[in-house]
Amino acid sequence: MARIAFIGLGNMGGGMAANLVRAGHQVTAFDLAADAMARATEAGCTPSTSAAEAAQDVDAVVTMLPAGKHVAAVYAESVFSAAAPGTLFLDCSTIDVGTARNTATGATAQGFAMVDAPVSGGIAAANAGTLTFMVGGSQQAFARAEPLLQAMGKVVIHAGEAGAGQAAKICNNMLLGASMIATAEAFVLAEKLGLDLQTFFDISSKASGQCWSMTSYCPVPGPVPTSPANRNYEGGFASALMLKDLKLAVEAAAAAGGSVPMASQAESLYQMFVGLGGGSRDFSAIIKLLDGSWDN
Ligand code: NAD
Repeated sequence: MARIAFIGLGNMGGGMAANLVRAGHQVTAFDLAADAMARATEAGCTPSTSAAEAAQDVDAVVTMLPAGKHVAAVYAESVFSAAAPGTLFLDCSTIDVGTARNTATGATAQGFAMVDAPVSGGIAAANAGTLTFMVGGSQQAFARAEPLLQAMGKVVIHAGEAGAGQAAKICNNMLLGASMIATAEAFVLAEKLGLDLQTFFDISSKASGQCWSMTSYCPVPGPVPTSPANRNYEGGFASALMLKDLKLAVEAAAAAGGSVPMASQAESLYQMFVGLGGGSRDFSAIIKLLDGSWDN
């Protein structure tokens, strides 16, 4: 049993903290939002009045926050000064590689251990404890973090040194965003060319065009009964979050001197879709922009 502070108990963090409690850990929770605090308390966490209070006298601090600026501020302004020497920090938010590396550098300089451990899998996986964690940090920090991450996920992979978890996450979601657009475009064209969509799925899902966006998350209703297309694109992975991840990928490429034309185009299309009111819909709803049927 470990004493854990959990900061950021929103859509993802709420379920993750509950799974740490279920695994027998003592979890102290802090979020700025009262409803998130109420849910965490209901799940068995001990409520705290600030991030600094939560981070005192614990073995580990887990953060699950919206973006890099929140992560940088919470560690610099609260956690670093409150935590006991040697405390392990696990940032599970999706943030830019630069902020992840800077925060880890600050942590290790002050005698803490830190990993960046962003996740693949949405709210359902956070609640079910079936997330995939991509972890950046030293071998020693990873060894300490792994059992805690196992309590919240089904796959935990050490990606490399600090920032490597974020790099893996950004590259994966860049691929996902582009492959979803390509899959949606193929279905839109198939229909225009007179193909039955189930027939096209039956062919392409077994041919060289097959990919996760088609076989597990098909953007048209019917072929994959569990995909969000079958429930009017509600739930799933919000288009606004896909846009956030594509922006991170494009920024990371610019900082590293790389060229990502597909990701740039995908970013523009999701930017347009979010601007037209599609931000809360699953990212496979981008097909509605491509076929001209989006009316919010
Ligand atoms: P969310 O907005 O539901 O939750 C974030 C929580 O952080 C909120 O409850 C907010 O009140 C809290 N918060 C913000 N600033 C704070 C501060 N200074 N101190 C304490 N609490 C603070 O977001 P989410 O969907 O849970 O996503 C969290 C992270 O996980 C993001 O980085 C996101 O990109 C990533 N992610 C989300 C999904 C998903 O499907 N929702 C999937 C994978 C990764």
